[in-house]
Amino acid sequence: MKLSEFYWHRITPLHFLLWPISILYGVIISLKRLCYRLDLFSTITLSVPVIVVDSITVDDKGKTPFILWLVELLKGYGLRPGIISRGSNDNTGTPIAVTTSSDQDAVGGKSLWLAHRCAGCPVWIGDDRVAVAEELLKAHPDCNILINDDGLQYHQLERDLEIVVIDYCEQNIGNGQIIPAGPLRESLNRLQDVDAVVVNGKINHKFDTEEWASIYDMNLTRDIFHHNLDPRNCITPTELSSRRIHAIADLDNAQWFFDHLLSLGINAKFHTFADNHKFEKKDFQFPDTDIILMSEEDAFKTRSFTINNLWILPVEAQVDGALREYIIKNIRDKFQSLKLIDIMACPLCKGPLRYGKFKDELICQSDQLAFPIIRGIPVMQKDKARELSNKNETPSKHELY
Ligand SMILES: [Zn+2]
Repeated sequence: MKLSEFYWHRITPLHFLLWPISILYGVIISLKRLCYRLDLFSTITLSVPVIVVDSITVDDKGKTPFILWLVELLKGYGLRPGIISRGSNDNTGTPIAVTTSSDQDAVGGKSLWLAHRCAGCPVWIGDDRVAVAEELLKAHPDCNILINDDGLQYHQLERDLEIVVIDYCEQNIGNGQIIPAGPLRESLNRLQDVDAVVVNGKINHKFDTEEWASIYDMNLTRDIFHHNLDPRNCITPTELSSRRIHAIADLDNAQWFFDHLLSLGINAKFHTFADNHKFEKKDFQFPDTDIILMSEEDAFKTRSFTINNLWILPVEAQVDGALREYIIKNIRDKFQSLKLIDIMACPLCKGPLRYGKFKDELICQSDQLAFPIIRGIPVMQKDKARELSNKNETPSKHELY
Protein backbone atom coordinates (compact mmCIF):
# COMPACT_ATOMS: atom_id res chain seq x y z
CA MET A 1 0.00 0.00 0.00
CA LYS A 2 1.25 3.48 -0.86
CA LEU A 3 1.75 5.85 2.09
CA SER A 4 -0.59 8.37 0.45
CA GLU A 5 -3.48 5.93 0.72
CA PHE A 6 -3.57 6.49 4.49
CA TYR A 7 -4.47 10.16 4.10
CA TRP A 8 -6.12 10.26 0.66
CA HIS A 9 -9.25 8.60 1.99
CA ARG A 10 -9.83 10.64 5.12
CA ILE A 11 -9.03 14.04 6.59
CA THR A 12 -6.06 13.88 8.96
CA PRO A 13 -4.04 16.51 10.92
CA LEU A 14 -1.48 16.22 8.11
CA HIS A 15 -4.00 17.95 5.84
CA PHE A 16 -3.30 21.32 7.48
CA LEU A 17 0.11 21.07 5.81
CA LEU A 18 -1.14 19.55 2.55
CA TRP A 19 -4.13 21.81 1.86
CA PRO A 20 -2.14 24.98 0.99
CA ILE A 21 -0.16 22.99 -1.61
CA SER A 22 -3.34 21.44 -3.00
CA ILE A 23 -5.05 24.83 -3.22
CA LEU A 24 -2.04 26.33 -5.00
CA TYR A 25 -1.91 23.40 -7.42
CA GLY A 26 -5.66 23.68 -8.11
CA VAL A 27 -5.34 27.43 -8.77
CA ILE A 28 -2.46 26.88 -11.22
CA ILE A 29 -4.45 24.20 -13.11
CA SER A 30 -7.55 26.45 -13.28
CA LEU A 31 -5.55 29.53 -14.34
CA LYS A 32 -3.82 27.58 -17.09
CA ARG A 33 -7.16 26.38 -18.41
CA LEU A 34 -8.62 29.90 -18.23
CA CYS A 35 -5.70 31.27 -20.25
CA TYR A 36 -6.40 28.76 -23.01
CA ARG A 37 -10.12 29.60 -22.90
CA LEU A 38 -9.40 33.31 -23.23
CA ASP A 39 -7.00 32.60 -26.11
CA LEU A 40 -4.08 34.03 -24.14
CA PHE A 41 -2.27 30.78 -24.97
CA SER A 42 -2.58 29.49 -28.51
CA THR A 43 -4.17 26.14 -29.30
CA ILE A 44 -3.73 23.82 -32.26
CA THR A 45 -6.72 22.33 -34.07
CA LEU A 46 -5.96 19.18 -36.03
CA SER A 47 -7.60 18.30 -39.31
CA VAL A 48 -9.18 15.18 -37.76
CA PRO A 49 -11.55 14.91 -34.75
CA VAL A 50 -9.88 14.41 -31.35
CA ILE A 51 -11.45 12.58 -28.41
CA VAL A 52 -9.80 13.07 -25.01
CA VAL A 53 -10.10 10.12 -22.65
CA ASP A 54 -8.73 10.65 -19.18
CA SER A 55 -9.35 10.08 -15.51
CA ILE A 56 -9.60 12.91 -13.02
CA THR A 57 -7.83 10.89 -10.37
CA VAL A 58 -4.29 9.62 -9.97
CA ASP A 59 -5.57 6.06 -10.30
CA ASP A 60 -6.81 5.60 -13.87
CA LYS A 61 -8.42 2.24 -13.34
CA GLY A 62 -10.98 1.43 -16.02
CA LYS A 63 -9.56 3.93 -18.51
CA THR A 64 -7.59 1.42 -20.58
CA PRO A 65 -10.53 -1.01 -21.04
CA PHE A 66 -12.65 2.01 -22.00
CA ILE A 67 -10.09 3.09 -24.64
CA LEU A 68 -10.10 -0.46 -26.03
CA TRP A 69 -13.91 -0.31 -26.19
CA LEU A 70 -13.77 3.09 -27.92
CA VAL A 71 -11.24 1.88 -30.50
CA GLU A 72 -13.51 -1.06 -31.35
CA LEU A 73 -16.54 1.25 -31.54
CA LEU A 74 -14.80 3.59 -34.00
CA LYS A 75 -13.42 0.72 -36.07
CA GLY A 76 -16.89 -0.81 -36.16
CA TYR A 77 -18.13 2.34 -37.92
CA GLY A 78 -15.33 2.05 -40.49
CA LEU A 79 -13.19 4.78 -38.95
CA ARG A 80 -9.43 4.48 -38.58
CA PRO A 81 -8.49 5.68 -35.10
CA GLY A 82 -5.02 6.42 -33.74
CA ILE A 83 -3.99 6.81 -30.09
CA ILE A 84 -1.66 9.46 -28.73
CA SER A 85 -0.37 9.28 -25.18
CA ARG A 86 2.38 10.51 -22.92
CA GLY A 87 3.68 6.97 -22.52
CA SER A 88 6.25 6.25 -19.85
CA ASN A 89 7.59 8.86 -17.44
CA ASP A 90 11.08 8.13 -18.75
CA ASN A 91 10.38 8.66 -22.44
CA THR A 92 12.60 11.11 -24.24
CA GLY A 93 9.79 13.40 -25.28
CA THR A 94 10.42 12.94 -28.99
CA PRO A 95 7.33 11.44 -30.67
CA ILE A 96 7.79 7.72 -31.19
CA ALA A 97 5.59 4.94 -32.48
CA VAL A 98 4.81 2.11 -30.08
CA THR A 99 4.74 -1.36 -31.56
CA THR A 100 4.50 -4.77 -29.94
CA SER A 101 8.27 -5.07 -30.26
CA SER A 102 9.01 -1.74 -28.52
CA ASP A 103 11.11 -1.77 -25.36
CA GLN A 104 8.90 -1.55 -22.27
CA ASP A 105 11.44 0.68 -20.50
CA ALA A 106 11.32 3.18 -23.35
CA VAL A 107 7.57 3.33 -24.00
CA GLY A 108 5.90 2.14 -20.77
CA GLY A 109 3.86 -1.01 -20.16
CA LYS A 110 0.48 0.66 -20.74
CA SER A 111 1.23 1.99 -24.22
CA LEU A 112 2.79 -1.33 -25.13
CA TRP A 113 -0.39 -3.05 -24.00
CA LEU A 114 -2.52 -0.66 -26.07
CA ALA A 115 -0.36 -1.30 -29.14
CA HIS A 116 -0.75 -5.05 -28.61
CA ARG A 117 -4.53 -4.94 -28.14
CA CYS A 118 -5.36 -2.34 -30.81
CA ALA A 119 -4.01 -4.12 -33.87
CA GLY A 120 -4.11 -1.81 -36.88
CA CYS A 121 -4.56 1.26 -34.68
CA PRO A 122 -1.31 3.25 -34.43
CA VAL A 123 -0.14 4.24 -30.93
CA TRP A 124 2.32 7.13 -30.61
CA ILE A 125 3.75 8.68 -27.46
CA GLY A 126 5.71 11.75 -26.40
CA ASP A 127 5.59 14.79 -24.12
CA ASP A 128 4.45 17.28 -26.74
CA ARG A 129 1.00 15.96 -27.62
CA VAL A 130 0.63 18.27 -30.66
CA ALA A 131 3.92 17.03 -32.14
CA VAL A 132 2.94 13.41 -31.38
CA ALA A 133 -0.41 13.84 -33.15
CA GLU A 134 1.19 15.50 -36.17
CA GLU A 135 3.85 12.80 -36.49
CA LEU A 136 1.23 10.05 -36.20
CA LEU A 137 -0.90 11.63 -38.92
CA LYS A 138 2.13 12.07 -41.13
CA ALA A 139 3.07 8.39 -40.76
CA HIS A 140 -0.56 7.22 -41.07
CA PRO A 141 -2.40 9.53 -43.49
CA ASP A 142 -5.36 7.12 -43.47
CA CYS A 143 -5.89 7.70 -39.72
CA ASN A 144 -9.01 9.89 -39.49
CA ILE A 145 -9.74 10.25 -35.77
CA LEU A 146 -7.48 10.51 -32.70
CA ILE A 147 -7.91 9.36 -29.12
CA ASN A 148 -5.87 11.57 -26.80
CA ASP A 149 -5.12 9.36 -23.82
CA ASP A 150 -4.44 11.32 -20.59
CA GLY A 151 -5.04 14.56 -22.46
CA LEU A 152 -7.52 16.35 -20.16
CA GLN A 153 -4.97 18.87 -18.89
CA TYR A 154 -3.17 19.20 -22.21
CA HIS A 155 -5.15 22.19 -23.50
CA GLN A 156 -2.81 23.13 -26.32
CA LEU A 157 -4.39 20.44 -28.45
CA GLU A 158 -8.03 21.23 -29.26
CA ARG A 159 -10.50 18.45 -28.61
CA ASP A 160 -13.96 17.65 -29.97
CA LEU A 161 -15.01 15.48 -27.04
CA GLU A 162 -13.79 15.12 -23.46
CA ILE A 163 -14.62 11.87 -21.72
CA VAL A 164 -13.59 11.22 -18.12
CA VAL A 165 -13.55 7.70 -16.68
CA ILE A 166 -14.09 7.27 -12.95
CA ASP A 167 -13.98 4.14 -10.88
CA TYR A 168 -16.25 4.31 -7.87
CA CYS A 169 -14.13 1.97 -5.77
CA GLU A 170 -13.10 3.30 -2.38
CA GLN A 171 -9.57 4.14 -3.52
CA ASN A 172 -10.56 6.28 -6.47
CA ILE A 173 -12.18 9.59 -5.47
CA GLY A 174 -11.09 9.17 -1.85
CA ASN A 175 -11.57 12.33 0.25
CA GLY A 176 -12.33 14.43 -2.87
CA GLN A 177 -9.23 16.61 -2.42
CA ILE A 178 -6.72 17.60 -5.07
CA ILE A 179 -3.19 16.16 -4.80
CA PRO A 180 -1.23 16.05 -2.55
CA ALA A 181 -4.09 16.23 0.01
CA GLY A 182 -6.22 13.76 -1.99
CA PRO A 183 -6.15 11.58 -5.10
CA LEU A 184 -7.70 14.09 -7.55
CA ARG A 185 -5.66 15.61 -10.37
CA GLU A 186 -8.30 18.31 -10.82
CA SER A 187 -11.29 19.52 -8.84
CA LEU A 188 -14.49 17.45 -9.15
CA ASN A 189 -16.10 20.65 -10.49
CA ARG A 190 -14.20 20.00 -13.72
CA LEU A 191 -16.68 17.18 -14.36
CA GLN A 192 -19.33 19.84 -15.03
CA ASP A 193 -17.47 20.97 -18.15
CA VAL A 194 -16.54 17.68 -19.79
CA ASP A 195 -18.80 16.02 -22.37
CA ALA A 196 -19.32 12.68 -20.65
CA VAL A 197 -18.45 10.95 -17.40
CA VAL A 198 -18.08 7.18 -17.57
CA VAL A 199 -18.38 5.43 -14.21
CA ASN A 200 -17.41 1.95 -13.25
CA GLY A 201 -18.97 0.35 -10.18
CA LYS A 202 -21.64 1.40 -7.69
CA ILE A 203 -21.65 4.83 -6.06
CA ASN A 204 -19.92 4.67 -2.68
CA HIS A 205 -19.04 8.33 -2.22
CA LYS A 206 -21.01 11.31 -0.92
CA PHE A 207 -20.16 13.86 -3.57
CA ASP A 208 -22.94 15.66 -5.41
CA THR A 209 -23.06 14.47 -9.03
CA GLU A 210 -26.06 16.65 -9.94
CA GLU A 211 -24.01 19.23 -11.85
CA TRP A 212 -21.69 16.75 -13.55
CA ALA A 213 -21.91 16.14 -17.29
CA SER A 214 -24.06 13.19 -18.37
CA ILE A 215 -23.03 10.02 -16.58
CA TYR A 216 -22.80 6.70 -18.40
CA ASP A 217 -22.32 3.33 -16.73
CA MET A 218 -19.54 0.95 -17.61
CA ASN A 219 -19.19 -2.62 -16.41
CA LEU A 220 -15.94 -4.49 -16.54
CA THR A 221 -16.62 -8.18 -17.12
CA ARG A 222 -13.95 -10.28 -15.51
CA ASP A 223 -14.88 -13.59 -14.00
CA ILE A 224 -13.47 -16.28 -16.32
CA PHE A 225 -9.75 -17.04 -16.46
CA HIS A 226 -8.03 -18.52 -19.47
CA HIS A 227 -4.77 -20.40 -19.72
CA ASN A 228 -1.67 -18.48 -20.70
CA LEU A 229 -0.71 -20.92 -23.45
CA ASP A 230 -4.19 -21.84 -24.66
CA PRO A 231 -6.84 -19.08 -24.50
CA ARG A 232 -9.59 -21.63 -25.32
CA ASN A 233 -8.86 -23.42 -22.04
CA CYS A 234 -10.98 -21.57 -19.45
CA ILE A 235 -11.54 -21.95 -15.71
CA THR A 236 -14.16 -20.45 -13.37
CA PRO A 237 -13.57 -19.15 -9.82
CA THR A 238 -15.49 -22.17 -8.41
CA GLU A 239 -13.01 -24.54 -10.05
CA LEU A 240 -10.18 -22.72 -8.28
CA SER A 241 -11.54 -23.30 -4.77
CA SER A 242 -9.30 -26.20 -3.73
CA ARG A 243 -6.12 -25.04 -5.47
CA ARG A 244 -2.96 -23.44 -4.08
CA ILE A 245 -2.97 -20.05 -5.78
CA HIS A 246 -0.57 -17.13 -6.07
CA ALA A 247 -1.76 -13.86 -7.59
CA ILE A 248 0.68 -11.36 -9.11
CA ALA A 249 0.17 -7.74 -10.12
CA ASP A 250 2.16 -4.57 -10.49
CA LEU A 251 1.31 -1.67 -8.19
CA ASP A 252 -0.93 -0.06 -10.77
CA ASN A 253 -3.20 -3.10 -11.02
CA ALA A 254 -2.72 -4.67 -7.59
CA GLN A 255 -5.57 -3.02 -5.68
CA TRP A 256 -8.42 -3.77 -8.06
CA PHE A 257 -7.04 -7.16 -9.07
CA PHE A 258 -6.59 -8.46 -5.53
CA ASP A 259 -9.94 -6.95 -4.40
CA HIS A 260 -11.58 -8.57 -7.37
CA LEU A 261 -10.12 -12.01 -6.63
CA LEU A 262 -11.39 -11.72 -3.04
CA SER A 263 -14.84 -10.74 -4.32
CA LEU A 264 -14.83 -13.89 -6.47
CA GLY A 265 -14.07 -15.92 -3.34
CA ILE A 266 -10.55 -16.80 -4.52
CA ASN A 267 -8.15 -17.45 -1.70
CA ALA A 268 -4.68 -16.55 -3.03
CA LYS A 269 -1.31 -15.37 -1.79
CA PHE A 270 -0.82 -11.88 -3.22
CA HIS A 271 2.45 -10.52 -4.61
CA THR A 272 2.85 -6.90 -5.69
CA PHE A 273 5.63 -5.57 -7.92
CA ALA A 274 6.63 -1.98 -8.74
CA ASP A 275 4.76 -0.08 -11.46
CA ASN A 276 6.01 -0.93 -14.92
CA HIS A 277 8.00 -3.87 -13.42
CA LYS A 278 9.79 -5.97 -16.02
CA PHE A 279 8.72 -9.46 -15.01
CA GLU A 280 11.27 -12.29 -15.08
CA LYS A 281 10.80 -16.01 -14.79
CA LYS A 282 12.17 -16.00 -11.24
CA ASP A 283 9.21 -13.80 -10.16
CA PHE A 284 6.99 -16.83 -10.72
CA GLN A 285 8.92 -19.47 -8.79
CA PHE A 286 6.87 -20.41 -5.76
CA PRO A 287 7.47 -23.81 -4.10
CA ASP A 288 3.85 -24.55 -3.17
CA THR A 289 1.65 -23.50 -6.05
CA ASP A 290 -0.84 -25.06 -8.46
CA ILE A 291 -1.95 -21.91 -10.18
CA ILE A 292 -0.69 -18.36 -10.75
CA LEU A 293 -3.22 -15.64 -11.62
CA MET A 294 -2.55 -12.33 -13.38
CA SER A 295 -4.59 -9.67 -15.13
CA GLU A 296 -4.39 -9.70 -18.92
CA GLU A 297 -2.48 -6.43 -18.94
CA ASP A 298 0.19 -7.64 -16.49
CA ALA A 299 0.42 -11.10 -18.08
CA PHE A 300 1.33 -9.43 -21.38
CA LYS A 301 4.61 -8.42 -19.75
CA THR A 302 5.56 -12.11 -19.38
CA ARG A 303 5.33 -12.87 -23.10
CA SER A 304 9.10 -13.38 -23.53
CA PHE A 305 9.07 -16.56 -21.43
CA THR A 306 6.73 -19.48 -20.75
CA ILE A 307 4.89 -20.13 -17.50
CA ASN A 308 2.93 -23.35 -17.60
CA ASN A 309 0.61 -22.73 -14.66
CA LEU A 310 -0.30 -19.10 -15.43
CA TRP A 311 -3.99 -18.24 -15.83
CA ILE A 312 -5.12 -14.89 -17.10
CA LEU A 313 -8.06 -12.66 -16.26
CA PRO A 314 -9.22 -10.72 -19.35
CA VAL A 315 -11.00 -7.43 -18.72
CA GLU A 316 -13.59 -6.16 -21.14
CA ALA A 317 -15.62 -2.96 -20.85
CA GLN A 318 -19.35 -2.96 -21.49
CA VAL A 319 -20.55 0.60 -21.86
CA ASP A 320 -24.02 2.19 -21.81
CA GLY A 321 -25.37 2.17 -25.39
CA ALA A 322 -26.45 5.81 -25.02
CA LEU A 323 -22.79 6.85 -24.91
CA ARG A 324 -22.14 4.99 -28.13
CA GLU A 325 -24.89 7.04 -29.82
CA TYR A 326 -23.65 10.27 -28.27
CA ILE A 327 -20.09 9.74 -29.51
CA ILE A 328 -21.12 8.73 -33.03
CA LYS A 329 -23.54 11.66 -33.32
CA ASN A 330 -20.75 14.06 -32.38
CA ILE A 331 -18.34 12.54 -34.86
CA ARG A 332 -20.99 12.69 -37.57
CA ASP A 333 -21.58 16.39 -36.86
CA LYS A 334 -17.85 17.04 -36.91
CA PHE A 335 -17.35 15.27 -40.24
CA GLN A 336 -20.24 17.19 -41.75
CA SER A 337 -18.37 20.40 -41.06
CA LEU A 338 -15.22 19.11 -42.79
CA LYS A 339 -14.28 18.47 -46.38
CA LEU A 340 -13.68 14.75 -46.10
CA ILE A 341 -11.31 14.48 -49.05
CA ASP A 342 -8.97 16.85 -47.22
CA ILE A 343 -8.59 14.55 -44.23
CA MET A 344 -9.19 11.05 -45.59
CA ALA A 345 -6.68 8.88 -47.40
CA CYS A 346 -7.13 5.46 -48.94
CA PRO A 347 -6.50 2.78 -46.25
CA LEU A 348 -4.77 0.57 -48.85
CA CYS A 349 -2.44 2.82 -50.85
CA LYS A 350 -2.65 5.82 -48.43
CA GLY A 351 -3.25 7.94 -51.53
CA PRO A 352 -5.76 10.78 -52.01
CA LEU A 353 -9.46 10.25 -52.59
CA ARG A 354 -12.16 12.06 -54.51
CA TYR A 355 -15.88 12.28 -54.01
CA GLY A 356 -18.18 10.06 -56.04
CA LYS A 357 -20.80 11.56 -58.30
CA PHE A 358 -23.31 12.09 -55.49
CA LYS A 359 -20.75 12.75 -52.76
CA ASP A 360 -21.83 9.62 -50.90
CA GLU A 361 -18.64 7.76 -51.73
CA LEU A 362 -14.92 8.38 -51.47
CA ILE A 363 -13.10 6.98 -54.46
CA CYS A 364 -9.52 5.73 -54.73
CA GLN A 365 -8.60 5.80 -58.39
CA SER A 366 -5.46 3.67 -58.08
CA ASP A 367 -7.20 0.86 -56.19
CA GLN A 368 -10.43 1.28 -58.19
CA LEU A 369 -12.47 1.25 -54.98
CA ALA A 370 -15.38 3.36 -53.75
CA PHE A 371 -15.68 3.66 -49.95
CA PRO A 372 -19.25 4.45 -48.83
CA ILE A 373 -20.15 7.43 -46.63
CA ILE A 374 -22.92 6.14 -44.41
CA ARG A 375 -24.93 8.80 -42.57
CA GLY A 376 -21.99 11.17 -42.64
CA ILE A 377 -19.32 8.68 -41.57
CA PRO A 378 -16.84 7.45 -44.20
CA VAL A 379 -16.48 3.66 -43.95
CA MET A 380 -12.84 3.12 -44.83
CA GLN A 381 -12.80 -0.67 -45.01
CA LYS A 382 -11.84 -2.68 -48.06
CA ASP A 383 -14.57 -5.28 -47.46
CA LYS A 384 -17.22 -2.53 -47.38
CA ALA A 385 -15.89 -0.80 -50.49
CA ARG A 386 -17.38 -1.16 -53.98
CA GLU A 387 -15.13 -2.13 -56.86
CA LEU A 388 -15.17 0.31 -59.75
CA SER A 389 -15.86 -2.03 -62.60
CA ASN A 390 -17.64 0.40 -64.87
CA LYS A 391 -15.38 2.52 -67.04
CA ASN A 392 -17.92 5.33 -66.86
CA GLU A 393 -16.98 5.76 -63.24
CA THR A 394 -13.52 6.95 -64.18
CA PRO A 395 -13.70 10.68 -63.47
CA SER A 396 -13.45 13.34 -66.06
CA LYS A 397 -10.59 15.79 -65.57
CA HIS A 398 -12.70 18.45 -63.85
CA GLU A 399 -14.12 15.90 -61.38
CA LEU A 400 -10.62 15.17 -60.09
CA TYR A 401 -10.23 18.66 -58.67
ZN1 LIG B 1 -5.92 3.34 -52.71
